[in-house]
Amino acid sequence: MSIIKKFKSTLGLLQTLDLDKIGKLSQKVDLNKMVGLVSSMKEEDLQKLIKFMEGGKKKHEFPEIDGDFYDLHDLLKPDEQAIVMQVREFMQKEIRPIVNSYWLKDEFPHQIIPELAKLNICGLTYQGYGCPGKSSLLEGFLAMEMARVDCSVSTFFGVQSGLAMGSIYYCGSEEQKQKWLPPMQRMELIGAFGLTEPEVGSGAAGGLTCTCKRNGDKWIINGQKKWIGNATFADVIIIWARDLDDGNVKGFIVEKDSPGFKAEKIKGKMALRIVQNALITLTNCEVPEYNRLQEANGFKDTAKVLRMTRAGVAWQAVGCGRGAYESALRYTNERKQFGRTISSFQMVQDLLVMMLSNLTAMQTMVCRLSQLQDSGRLTDEHASLAKVFCTLRTRDIVSHARELFGGNGILIENDIARFVADAEAIYSYEGTKEINTLIVGRAITGQSAFV
Ligand SMILES: Cc1cc2nc3c(=O)[nH]c(=O)nc-3n(C[C@H](O)[C@H](O)[C@H](O)COP(=O)(O)OP(=O)(O)OC[C@H]3O[C@@H](n4cnc5c(N)ncnc54)[C@H](O)[C@@H]3O)c2cc1C
Repeated sequence: MSIIKKFKSTLGLLQTLDLDKIGKLSQKVDLNKMVGLVSSMKEEDLQKLIKFMEGGKKKHEFPEIDGDFYDLHDLLKPDEQAIVMQVREFMQKEIRPIVNSYWLKDEFPHQIIPELAKLNICGLTYQGYGCPGKSSLLEGFLAMEMARVDCSVSTFFGVQSGLAMGSIYYCGSEEQKQKWLPPMQRMELIGAFGLTEPEVGSGAAGGLTCTCKRNGDKWIINGQKKWIGNATFADVIIIWARDLDDGNVKGFIVEKDSPGFKAEKIKGKMALRIVQNALITLTNCEVPEYNRLQEANGFKDTAKVLRMTRAGVAWQAVGCGRGAYESALRYTNERKQFGRTISSFQMVQDLLVMMLSNLTAMQTMVCRLSQLQDSGRLTDEHASLAKVFCTLRTRDIVSHARELFGGNGILIENDIARFVADAEAIYSYEGTKEINTLIVGRAITGQSAFV
């Protein structure tokens, strides 16, 4: 047997020992002598020794890690499953390697937009206007796949495909849809959605202070919008404002170069740092009548868009929880303490199973939600219930995941800290827990408890 081969065999043997065991052994025997002895052994004796050291047992093989415990993926048609796999691959190859550095830099990776566009999933459920016309169930699975790797990228995409395109699809005229939706579907134009204001968040339904007033063929908009995702670089920003004449909420497609429009980046965010949120100031901002959303006649029309996107946020929360659960399970299978993988400890398994049960409940809930959506039966309260439940449970999942990573859980390189922070933003946006709870409470009791 050559020296190199023997050396490799010896090394292989040592690798089968865990460091704790070697430490204990070194207190009893001279390791230098032992290594010398092992190196001079015959091949067959060496093999016997390796077998003895392994206790005659096969190396433990961990089961495949997959947070879809009930095989809900099977609810999709084969062509839909193929699209999920494409998005999964994209997220793994293009996003995972860069996500933590962009998150830390608080910057958006603009180079991903053309690549995302190639997936042809933007405006997925809309019929016509270059949109694929696929199911809401598939759309949900894709939101989950994105958030499973990164919630910021899924938020960017949700604003573009859901909030911005959705406002035009549900509230625009035929002409407006023809003009704006195809280039937005191809992601040549990026959109944003401005509803929230510095002083008006939860109370947006009745309390918008941003105003609009018609002046001939133009509208004059005044006010501010806060937290508006993508708005620092968006080409078109949907702005919701109250008409000073009839008091109704109206929607406008505001082009970024419109006179009187200003978007400033909100700095110092501790969640969804890749998403570029802006404070928008509209000072006598002029918007032509042809850019007023022709079918938006009150907040109830805004709510049509929010119903759909809230369902999307519930799926996003599932993705966030799934990513955290799967990372935690992988880590606990690798990390050893007391000479054993930490996933072999009862209390660790208790946490893992608690995470999986929450995740599975969330997944089954959102699948049913999307089925209701696909059959045209989705209500505001359906979407609100799922949004509340999933974002609440995801907070538990990510915090358990962080716990299982020990100190390493706060290092950005392990992803978990990012999931923990991002879950906080998802918990608050598109209606807080309280607001969505009040929507469901009103539906089941017939009494509004908003004020
Ligand atoms: C990262 C991020 C991205 C966002 N992106 C966008 C975007 O793209 N476009 C957009 O328009 N908005 C966006 N938002 C705004 C988001 O929708 C609001 O933050 C959210 O609706 C809550 O409003 P608020 O922050 O003003 O909180 P507030 O409304 O001030 O609420 C503060 C607290 O009071 C509670 N509360 C309020 N009213 C009641 C009540 N009646 N009963 C009980 N409790 C109540 C709330 O639940 C909450 O706990 C984003 C927010 C974040 C954080």
